[in-house]
This record gives sequence, structure tokens and C-alpha cells, in this order.
Amino acid sequence: MADILVFCEVAGGKVKGTARELLGKAKELADGGDVTACLLGSDLGDAADGLGELGADTVIKVEHDALASYVPGAWAAALSQAIEDNNPDVVLGAASVLGKDLLPRAAALLEAGVAADCTDLREGDDGIEGTRSLYSGKALATVSVNSEPKFFSIRPNSFVIGDVEAGDGDVEDFEADLEDDYGYEVVEVESSGGDVIDLTEATRIISGGRSLKSLENFGLFDEPARLMGGAIGASRAAVDAGYATHSMQVGQTGKVVNPQLYIAAGISGAIQHLAGMRTSKVIVAINKDADAPIFQHATYGIVGDLFEVMPMLTEELAKVLSD
Ligand SMILES: Cc1cc2nc3c(=O)[nH]c(=O)nc-3n(C[C@H](O)[C@H](O)[C@H](O)COP(=O)(O)OP(=O)(O)OC[C@H]3O[C@@H](n4cnc5c(N)ncnc54)[C@H](O)[C@@H]3O)c2cc1C
Repeated sequence: MADILVFCEVAGGKVKGTARELLGKAKELADGGDVTACLLGSDLGDAADGLGELGADTVIKVEHDALASYVPGAWAAALSQAIEDNNPDVVLGAASVLGKDLLPRAAALLEAGVAADCTDLREGDDGIEGTRSLYSGKALATVSVNSEPKFFSIRPNSFVIGDVEAGDGDVEDFEADLEDDYGYEVVEVESSGGDVIDLTEATRIISGGRSLKSLENFGLFDEPARLMGGAIGASRAAVDAGYATHSMQVGQTGKVVNPQLYIAAGISGAIQHLAGMRTSKVIVAINKDADAPIFQHATYGIVGDLFEVMPMLTEELAKVLSD
């Protein structure tokens, strides 16, 4: 039994999808212990509503003007204070851009340890332990944290959550004691993706490589991505050639993704690309070279010209998904 606090990110007045999977997993691991959701922001509105149904017994809202934008010092102070007040055994958060920065900072303030970017969690001999992928996914390490609390950041889409036992979802306000100045001011936030689904949180991704040959040809992926509710990614070769933006790059020097479905169209499967998508649950490779390395990692392989295969696949998706 463990008391678990889940840091839930809020965007556009709603908790992000990662909160659902983390709360569901927390409920399973808590095994009768308390599951607490913790939300930070300057105006959280009704973002706390409905978190009980996702498994939260308690929801802590930390609202403060200093939390309007992500200011690391302020957010780390607020989160660590809420954790100290709640005294959980375990703290979970998404290994998102924000989570990867915030959780270690909050842990440092509490002199606690963090296992970052885990892809699984389980009950071990010394309490909850995590799985981390090493050497670009070639090895898996089991990590335990010896501090109290134990912090884990979890790669988005690591867990498939079924029915979750609902918690009470009681909402409590926590007043953080924050300073006026943390030596850091957010002047402007510019979103590069508009309302495009964030690659790191997408459950379905179609990525294209150098073989797409132009920016216009990447448009081939718009319709299937829309039909599947997915995001579009790219190899570095495609980004370097100007066919896609850097925010779409998957791999060692791009984003690490973990979707349920990853379609790699015209991507060779270089080690640096695999580093960003190897943990995808189902990998579909489309490549005209039957010996392309990507096929060694694919769940399903289609040997063929992507310019012929993609329209057929899109037509089939339209049929299946409109039924
Ligand atoms: C330090 C470093 C960091 C790197 N970081 C990254 C990274 O983050 N992400 C990344 O992706 N790469 C990264 N790379 C680059 C990586 O090594 C590869 O060069 C790159 O992934 C290749 O991209 P690609 O598969 O699109 O191109 P290619 O390797 O050129 O492969 C194109 C593939 O398309 C197939 N093809 C061609 N035409 C068609 C068609 N009509 N239909 C179907 N298939 C077709 C070919 O058979 C081939 O397999 C990095 C490299 C270095 C050195």
C-alpha cells in the first residue's frame, strides 16, 4: 500500500491526457493507499472537476499569480510545498518537456531522488520501482529510488488504462508561500504547433522520411492523421531537407515518442531514429526496400512504394473508421 501524489499538467483549462494514465496507474499501485492529484496554475478554473472519476481521492489545487507561466523556481517551490504538506510515499508526473524540468527541481528541494523517463512502474521488493530504457532502447533497467518520497517521471502513453475505481475527488486549495522574484521572467509564450496534437503525447503517429521528397508531399499524411486523430512526425533527413519542421523530428536529437501506433513511411530505421520511437507499441513500416533496417523492428511491414501504399491505406482507414 502506498500514498501516491500525481502532478497533473493543465493546458487550455483542462488536465492533459497524461493525467488519466498516471492517475489510473497510481490507483492500481496505491493498492488502497491515497491517490492525490496536484494541479498548479494561476487560474485553474474547473480543471479539477472529474478527476475523482479518474481515480483521485483528493485533488490539490495550487493557484498563485506567480504560476501563470512556467517559471521553474516558482513551480518547483509550489510543488515541493504541496508534496511536503501531503507527505506521499511516491510522486508521479509525465516525462513531458515541463515534467522533465520540474520534477527534478521539486525533488531536489525535498532532497529526494528521481527516476526519470520511466516506461513502466510496478511494486518491487523495496516499494514501487520503475523501468527505464537505456542505450537508445536496447536495454531495460529496473530502478528503485531510496528516498522519501520517491519521484518517477513517466514517458507519455506508457500505460493502457482500463476501468479505474473512482476516488472521492475532494478538491482542496493549497496556498503556496512563493517569492516575488525567482530571477526569471516569461516574456512571451509562442506555440509552434497551434492546435496540432503534441507528438510526445500522441497515441498514433505517421512519420515520413527523406523519401517524401518535398514539403507538399508530407500533405499525404494529413488525411490519415486526421482520420486516426494522430500526429505527423519526420526523420531528421526530412527535417534537414526542409520537408518538415524540427518540432516534428523523432529521434535521438528530436522527440522521444511512445504511441500505441507508429507508422514509419519511407524511413530507413537508422539507430538515431529508432532511439525516438522504438518503444512504440505497434510499429508499421512502409518501405520499398525489403532489406531496410526498420523492418527488423516493425510489428507489420509493407514492402512497397509509399506513394502507392499511403493512398490505399488512407482509403481503408476511412472505411474502417467511418463504420
Ligand atoms: C548525431 C546524430 C543524430 C541524429 N539524430 C537523428 C534523429 O533525431 N532522428 C532521425 O530520424 N535521424 C537522426 N539522425 C540521422 C540518421 O542517422 C539518419 O540519417 C536518418 O534517420 C535517415 O532518415 P531517413 O530514414 O528519412 O532517410 P534515409 O536513410 O535516406 O532512408 C530513406 C528510406 O526510404 C526508403 N524509400 C525511398 N523511396 C521510397 C518510396 N517511394 N516508398 C517507400 N520507401 C522509400 C528507402 O528504401 C530508405 O530506406 C542523426 C544522425 C546523427 C549522426
